[in-house]
Amino acid sequence: MTLLRKILVLEDEASIRSFVVINLKRAGYEVVEAETGAEAFELLRKHTDIKVAILDIMLPDTDGFEVCRKIRAADPQIGIIMLSAKTQEMDKVTGLMTGADDYVTKPFSPAELTARVDALLRRSEVTFGQPDNGIIVSGPFKLNTRNRTLEKQGTRIKITQVEYTIIKMFMDNPGKALSREDILNTVWGRDYFGEVKIADVNIRRLRIKIEDDPTNPQFITTLWGFGYKWGV
Ligand code: CA
Repeated sequence: MTLLRKILVLEDEASIRSFVVINLKRAGYEVVEAETGAEAFELLRKHTDIKVAILDIMLPDTDGFEVCRKIRAADPQIGIIMLSAKTQEMDKVTGLMTGADDYVTKPFSPAELTARVDALLRRSEVTFGQPDNGIIVSGPFKLNTRNRTLEKQGTRIKITQVEYTIIKMFMDNPGKALSREDILNTVWGRDYFGEVKIADVNIRRLRIKIEDDPTNPQFITTLWGFGYKWGV
C-alpha cells in the first residue's frame, strides 16, 4: 500500500492553482484544491489526513492569514506554507506570526515549492520509528518526543512542528551557542532556498509562547550577530 501524502492548495487564481497542483501531483502528492477560504475549511473537515496546506494571501472571501490562523488554532500539527506576492514583504512576517511554517514568494519554480513541501513533511515524519521516545526535561520544560508535546510547569503549550523541532534542538544542546545557519540547516534542511530570517521569526513566535517576558527572554537568549543559546 502506498501512503499518499495529501496537500491542500488554496489559490483563487486558476492558472496559478493548476500550475501548483500539476507540479505537486507530478512530485507524487495527492492534492485537493480550493478557490475560497470557505471551500478550504470544507475540504479540511472532509480530509482529516491533509498534511500540508498551501495558502494564497489575497482571496475573494477572506485572506490567507485569517485562514492560516483558523487552521492553526484547530490543528497545531499541520504544515502551512503561505504564497506571497513579491511586493508584499510584510506578508512574510505577518504570515509566520499567524502560525505559518514557511512562505514562498511569487513567482516561484515548481522545484522550489516541492522542496519546501518535502522539507516540511520530512520534519514532521523524521522521528517516526526512532527508539528515542523519551522525555527531555530542561528547567520548567518537559518535551515529550513521542507525541511531540511541550509542557511548562505542567501546563501544555501548543506548538507547531517547526517550533517543536527548534525547541528540541535547543534542549538537546543546552548552553551551546547555535548559529542561525545551524538552526536553519537543522530545522529547514540543507537544501533550503529561503532566507535565514525565517529562523528569527519562528524563534520570536516561540518566545511568545514559552518565555515569561518575551521582550526579556531568559530561556532562548540572543547572541548578537551569531545566533541563539538555550539556558534555563
Ligand atoms: Ca489570490
